[in-house]
Amino acid sequence: MTATADALRDLHTLHQRAKALRDRLTSGPKTLAARTAALAARTADLEKVRKALQDAQLGVKKSEHSMQAAQAKIDDLKVKLNLVKKNDEYKAIQNQIAHDKTAMGKHEDDVLNGFEVVEARKAELAAAEAEVGKFAEEVAALKKTLDDQAVSQKAQLAELEAAIVSAEDHIPADQREQYRRTVRQLGADALAPVEGGACLGCYTAVTPQMLNELINRDGLTFCKSCGRLLYLAEGEGDPVAKPKPKARSRAKG
Ligand SMILES: [Zn+2]
Repeated sequence: MTATADALRDLHTLHQRAKALRDRLTSGPKTLAARTAALAARTADLEKVRKALQDAQLGVKKSEHSMQAAQAKIDDLKVKLNLVKKNDEYKAIQNQIAHDKTAMGKHEDDVLNGFEVVEARKAELAAAEAEVGKFAEEVAALKKTLDDQAVSQKAQLAELEAAIVSAEDHIPADQREQYRRTVRQLGADALAPVEGGACLGCYTAVTPQMLNELINRDGLTFCKSCGRLLYLAEGEGDPVAKPKPKARSRAKG
C-alpha cells in the first residue's frame, strides 16, 4: 500500500478523533475531582455551622443554670430577710437581693438572646444541609454519567486505535520510525494538510520539490519547518487544475 493523500487524510482524522476521545476521557475525571473537592469543602463548612449551633445551645443552657442559681440565691436571701432582727442587716440583705435581681435580669436576657441565636443557627444549618445534599446528588449524578460515558468512550477509543494501526499500513516501512517519532512528539497534530502551497500546521510554504513529492507520492514528506507529516488537501495539486467557481473568486475579490 502507498501513502496516498486520501490514506494520510484518513489517518489524520483517526488520530484527531482518538485525541478528542482521550481528552474527554481525561477531562471528565478532572471535573469530577474538582467537584468532589468542592463538596468536601462544603461538607466541612457544614460541620462548622453544626458546631456553631451546638455552641449556641450550650450557651443557652449555661445562662439557664446561672438564672436558676441566681433565683435560688434570691429565694434564700428572702428567707433570711424574714429572720433578721437588726435594721442594718435587713438593709444589707435587701441590697444583696436587688443586686442579685439585676444579675438575674441579665441572665434572663442572655437566655432569650441565646434562643434567638439557636433558631438562627438551626435555620442556617437546615439551609446548608439542603444545599450540600443537593450538591452531593449532583456530584453523584455526574460520576454516574461519566462512568457510563467512559465505558462507551473506551470502546470507541479501542476501535479507533485498531483503525489507526490498520491505517498505518500505508506508511512505508523505511519511514515508519520517523512517523512514530512525530506522533510521539505531536500526537494528533503529527500530520498536516498542504493547502495553497503551505503546511497548514505552521503556515510555512512548501518548496516546489516537496509539492512534487506530495503529488508523485514517493514516500512520506515531512514539513521542514514544523516536522509534520504532510499530505495534500482535497483538490490540492491535482494534475489538471480545476477551474475555480466564479462565486468564490468574486467573494474573495
Ligand atoms: Zn509545517
